[in-house]
Amino acid sequence: MRVTANTDVCVGAGQCVHAAPTVFDQSDDDGLVVLLRTDVTHADAEAVRTAVERCPSGAVELLER
Ligand code: SF4
Repeated sequence: MRVTANTDVCVGAGQCVHAAPTVFDQSDDDGLVVLLRTDVTHADAEAVRTAVERCPSGAVELLER
């Protein structure tokens, strides 16, 4: 699985970081999402799905392949 994050639509709400802090971070400059990695292990998948559900702008996507 892979995760993507679109900084063009991210509003810096930080829900993704809260849900999956090993995968997401926020820029110190503008608060926008920063991916710590794009590969998602099975151990992280549930947390990343939660991040996808909670992101208010639809910036985060989990690709199941
Ligand atoms: S939850 Fe969505 S809008 Fe908020 S920082 Fe993460 S990607 Fe950006």
